[in-house]
Amino acid sequence: PARTRFAPSPTGYLHLGSLRTALFNYLLAKRTGGQFILRIEDTDQKRTIPDAESRLLQDLRWAGLQWDEGPEVGGPYGPYKQSERSELYKVHAQRLLDSGHAYRCFCSAERLQKLAESRHQMGLATDYDRTCANIPHSVSNERAVRHESHVIRLRMPDTPPEYEDLIYGTFKPVKQRRGEQAFEDMILLKSDGLPTYHLANVVDDHHMAITHVIRGSEWMPSTPKHVAMYNAFGWTPPQFAHVGLLVDEQGNKLSKRNFDTDITAFGEMEIFPETLTNFAALLGWSHNEKSDVMDLATLVKKFSMKFTRGNTTVTFGKLHFLQRKHAALRAAAGGEGLQKMVEDVSKLLQDPSGPYQEWRKLTGSPLPGAYIEKIIQSDAENYTNANEFVYRNSFLFAPLRNPPSVTDAEDVPTRSKALKELGEEEWTKDGLMQKVREIIDERPEGKKGAKDVYHHMRQALTGREEGMRLYDIMLILGRKESLRRLGVDVE
Ligand code: GLU
Repeated sequence: PARTRFAPSPTGYLHLGSLRTALFNYLLAKRTGGQFILRIEDTDQKRTIPDAESRLLQDLRWAGLQWDEGPEVGGPYGPYKQSERSELYKVHAQRLLDSGHAYRCFCSAERLQKLAESRHQMGLATDYDRTCANIPHSVSNERAVRHESHVIRLRMPDTPPEYEDLIYGTFKPVKQRRGEQAFEDMILLKSDGLPTYHLANVVDDHHMAITHVIRGSEWMPSTPKHVAMYNAFGWTPPQFAHVGLLVDEQGNKLSKRNFDTDITAFGEMEIFPETLTNFAALLGWSHNEKSDVMDLATLVKKFSMKFTRGNTTVTFGKLHFLQRKHAALRAAAGGEGLQKMVEDVSKLLQDPSGPYQEWRKLTGSPLPGAYIEKIIQSDAENYTNANEFVYRNSFLFAPLRNPPSVTDAEDVPTRSKALKELGEEEWTKDGLMQKVREIIDERPEGKKGAKDVYHHMRQALTGREEGMRLYDIMLILGRKESLRRLGVDVE
């Protein structure tokens, strides 16, 4: 069983990319019967956004990714918030000091600034020059006792360690001469005694017994440094899998304009949680199933560590395709999911400041839920959200105001009178099919004129050129209203 974690920093909200990271970790844990852990990495207090943490929890829950251990649920390895674990990081920085894997650095910010500038001018990487690396232990201790301001740095090995990425294989940091690349002696503990992301992340993954880390490829360059730290502690690192960046169809990083909005925005667009998790799962993960359409439970069953390398293109046509498929699944299941759609449509129709106030006047009392449900059942495969759905099927939600003029098949209205012979009980799909076939057969064109009959009836019933199946429309409208729209007198 895998123990995985999602470790967001509360410096922003949950986005498509981070939801995908959380999802992959969740799926691996659930697939293997393990645990999915949520850890809040709030070491960067300056960049923390006040409501980010609560929103992260809320959005993860909305998406159905309930964590087994973490904030609000607790667990054996808590607390699950790094700001409540400072002591642990201090102890571990001290351990590396004692073993000689780390050293105190007393260089002032000004000195480091100047150093970086001059190295930059010489065309060198702006790495730290290890001035403090050779301060004797006893001197370093004395200066610390005198409260001289310092940070603690890791003594990086000359050759940073390789590691085996589950997606990218052996990850070899480019070997260059020391000082020319970014494998500098990184800071573990800052001068205020708080840990950097790197120290806290490694200490926590070890202490929380994490077995697999699936995260964005932007963390790939940090991984050798983390492995160096695991080695210094004498710990076995978890397995790493880095998933590619999400890009738009032009190959650019997702931006606000192309849907890099936080997850709440998808909820506001009435995208179903199961649509979004399905969509996110397909971003870089590949499977052998016949269909791409999978709810969360199915994803858990089918999940494997098969990821594509490189960047993943996000296309939003796919999101809407999946939404329609999940709408159809909801309609077929007939449970709470369907009820939610009915409520959304009903709320929209009744909203006193919404777009359908005119209709409210026309229809009088609110449409019954059962009636709305029938419409959704009949056209669920075209449902994306309440507004689009009502617009698409508006002829079912409000009386037709401008009955279309009779066009091609002038005799269809006359012949439609035959439908009147069907009583309420015979107003069924079979009964209607039978009658319409008779109408077609009785016209001089016979079967060749079928298209004209259908077209005319559709025009009369809906005022539209296309839409759901004709018989479904007549069943939803019922005998009286259908006949009325077809121009047949009914008492
Ligand atoms: N706190 C980091 C982030 O916000 C976690 C990175 C990781 O998964 O190690 O992305």
